[in-house]
Amino acid sequence: MDKKRVYTFGNGQAEGRADMKNLLGGKGANLAEMNLIGVPVPPGFTITTEVCTEYYELGHNKVVALLKKEVEQAIAHIETLMRSKFGDVENPLLVSVRSGARASMPGMMDTILNLGLNDEVVEGLTRKTGNARFAWDSYRRFVQMYGDVVLGMKPSNKEEIDPFEEIIEEVKHAKGVKLDNELKVEDLKELVAKFKAAVKERTGKDFPASAFEQLWGAVCAVFNSWMNERAILYRKMEGIPDEWGTAVTVQAMVFGNMGETSATGVCFSRDAGTGEDLFNGEYLINAQGEDVVAGIRTPQQITLIGSQRWAALAGVSEETRSKCYPSMEEAMPEIYAELDRLQTKLENHYRDMQDMEFTVQEGKLWFLQTRNGKRTGAAMVKIAMDLLHQGMIDEKTAILRVEPNKLDELLHPVFDKIALSQATVLTRGLPASPGAATGQIVFFADDAAEWHAAGKKVVMVRLETSPEDLAGMQVAQGILTARGGMTSHAAVVARGMGKCCVSGAGALNIDYKARTVEIDGTVLKEGDFISINGSTGEVYQGKVETRAAELSGDFSELMKLADKYTKLQVRTNADTPHDAAVARNFGAVGIGLCRTEHMFFEGEKIKAMREMILAVDAEGRRKALAKILPYQQDDFKGIFKAMQGYPVTVRLLDPPLHEFVPHDLKGQEEMAEAMGVTLAYIQQRVESLCEHNPMLGHRGCRLGNTYPEITQMQTRAILGAALELKKEGITTIPEIMVPLTGIVYEFNEQEKVIRSEAEALFAEKGTRIEFKVGTMIEIPRAALTANKIAASAEFFSFGTNDLTQMTFGYSRDDIASFLPVYLEKKILKVDPFQVLDQNGVGQLVRMATEKGRSVRPDLKCGICGEHGGEPSSVKFCHKVGLNYVSCSPFRVPIARLAAAQAAIEE
Ligand code: ADP
Ligand code: MG
Ligand code: MG
Repeated sequence: MDKKRVYTFGNGQAEGRADMKNLLGGKGANLAEMNLIGVPVPPGFTITTEVCTEYYELGHNKVVALLKKEVEQAIAHIETLMRSKFGDVENPLLVSVRSGARASMPGMMDTILNLGLNDEVVEGLTRKTGNARFAWDSYRRFVQMYGDVVLGMKPSNKEEIDPFEEIIEEVKHAKGVKLDNELKVEDLKELVAKFKAAVKERTGKDFPASAFEQLWGAVCAVFNSWMNERAILYRKMEGIPDEWGTAVTVQAMVFGNMGETSATGVCFSRDAGTGEDLFNGEYLINAQGEDVVAGIRTPQQITLIGSQRWAALAGVSEETRSKCYPSMEEAMPEIYAELDRLQTKLENHYRDMQDMEFTVQEGKLWFLQTRNGKRTGAAMVKIAMDLLHQGMIDEKTAILRVEPNKLDELLHPVFDKIALSQATVLTRGLPASPGAATGQIVFFADDAAEWHAAGKKVVMVRLETSPEDLAGMQVAQGILTARGGMTSHAAVVARGMGKCCVSGAGALNIDYKARTVEIDGTVLKEGDFISINGSTGEVYQGKVETRAAELSGDFSELMKLADKYTKLQVRTNADTPHDAAVARNFGAVGIGLCRTEHMFFEGEKIKAMREMILAVDAEGRRKALAKILPYQQDDFKGIFKAMQGYPVTVRLLDPPLHEFVPHDLKGQEEMAEAMGVTLAYIQQRVESLCEHNPMLGHRGCRLGNTYPEITQMQTRAILGAALELKKEGITTIPEIMVPLTGIVYEFNEQEKVIRSEAEALFAEKGTRIEFKVGTMIEIPRAALTANKIAASAEFFSFGTNDLTQMTFGYSRDDIASFLPVYLEKKILKVDPFQVLDQNGVGQLVRMATEKGRSVRPDLKCGICGEHGGEPSSVKFCHKVGLNYVSCSPFRVPIARLAAAQAAIEE
């Protein structure tokens, strides 16, 4: 038998299920599931994601031939349930054609509504419903959507206006009306005629009248929309593979535009911004489809409490609110009760916060979509913990519900309270996505990208946003819009990105041409500073200082829960007492990498360091190093103190020396004078330190092996600091780490220097301290001979930045010249310096760990590259049995959560 390409649903039955998302897309699978659990859904069918792949292989005609029989049967199935006929003049069935991938990509792909209409059918629809306005409103929407999406009339750049919108504006102007819904039947007829003329002019063909021809055009257009620019960009951002493809759902239309007892809306079972357990959403009476999301009319709240909160923010009196902007709870109490019952049912069924779309047709409620709702990091944590407390999910599920990377948002700054109290409030909008943002005003997405690239912080200010603005939103600090509600495009996308957003600030008068925005008499230009608070909706003039975030009780509870399951320890990379303290606060249990080079860059130290490097001989170097010693010892004391009781791995000097010497004339003259040598000598020394390939040059333990006095000084500083703290009763666990070992003898030489210097120091001070000597594994040869190295080294730390560099042979500093092309061509799926290459570099990590432990079973192994804070890499480290990962302080909570998830998933 040929494979099944079409799955039907309707009337409480379905061929699909919720767990068939890969095949049916999220939307199709959940429409099927809703049927099965008794939620009213208009009947329809879903064409599988596999057909999308076939479409890209075979093209339009062959795919239509493959699908024809099944689709015709499925249409007949809808016809039976709806008691109407597709393309019929007397009793027409209209359908929507909808996209839906495995992972939700809101608004990224195309949807076509009211399909099946033509000049005769619209008359039939008028007779059938007795509602000419509705029939013609549906027809004009259909011609517009079909023209834009299927016939390619939607402009591809922002300067051009949609040809249909232009016609609407003309007609509205001629009739002297402001809103779409003020147009009369005659006007709508005029619109349709003009739309069709525009189609003929542009494409040279008549608008298709046959229902099936329309259907095939729409189905293939949805497949095409999988590869549109904004969908591709969105997938890149979210890490969704291009191969997945989209499913297509064809579904009987229900109409929210049939009059005052009809409506359309979007709702959430909990608050997607804060996580509060409160049903909320927005709706519009006598409207259809995307009207709510597109921000064309500002929608009203579904619940009374939501409506009251909205009025308080917008400064609307209770009287005006209840008269002009009533909630659905007040305006349609019976339907509201039904909606509330079903949203609870859906949340209980899926055991997660639901984001739902619905339409009311003449008093009857229909669900059109449900999915697990996108949410901010803060909401993600709160909802997971609340569901746990409410007994809906267990501990492990709660941990798995939080995306580690999302925790990043919680750690972001908020406005400083004092700075805020002195700032001028310009206006208020809706608190669409929490956070604090301050930056320069830009009005267009491409300007945002440009200014951002130039190192500026921007806030994007717009009437409303659309999917075309994605790239700009991504780089902006925040987004401020004049129109649109809490479920507008700007709001939904910003929350998904964890980006601060204030929407629907009606007082904004934006002039795109002049690039200005006027707010109650204050005029701000492009480039002026503005600040927005996405948690309250407030908009401030100028810059407002920010400060570190406060962590909620839910957050610490989640972290505690994570520690209960985790096996992998999380340390931090820190070179200052401040960073060490921050990381401790976030739960780091030690330092996995303390770099020492930055300590040489400050103030007097850099001079002494330069003197050391430029010195004529070892004697000169020793003299200079003696000056550095007390500073270094002090630095270590501070760090050990901040990490008391926990291990601190200190790496000996690593970078090539030329990084420290002055390359400018003034600096060189200064050094000549300080050292009492000629300028020519200094210049010649600087010259001789230059290398063609510094990354592979005189660095790492090669420095310590050629200049052992550096290693001696550093050993003295590290252990000297530990001994002083011992006197103060503070426990330290120093681990001295030799960088860039390739051959065991390199390590052995360094170990000898370290141990004999330590003995000398202990003898001088008459007291000793325990410490370990180990090495970084960052050269492939070291990984390959790890059993030899582990015979001497007491611990391994995988320096995966260098290990990636040397395994791939990609220079970390020069990868930018070809990485974008490699990603584009999919030669590389991701940047291997961000996400650990498990198949290559990861194998070296695995092998070195095994080989090392074969000679030293208790060998402590960790990772200290950038990868230590990247969730998928952390999970890999768990799998190969490392003892710890080490990452920058702000990534510590992310790594802790990822480590717990790895243990649970095992
Ligand atoms: P997206 O994935 O961009 O949300 P949808 O396929 O959900 O696109 O369609 C957008 C909107 O169109 C829906 O929210 C709904 O309001 C409307 N819509 C889709 N199908 C139907 C239908 N069969 N009847 C009525 N409205 C529909
Ligand atoms: Mg939708
Ligand atoms: Mg290195």
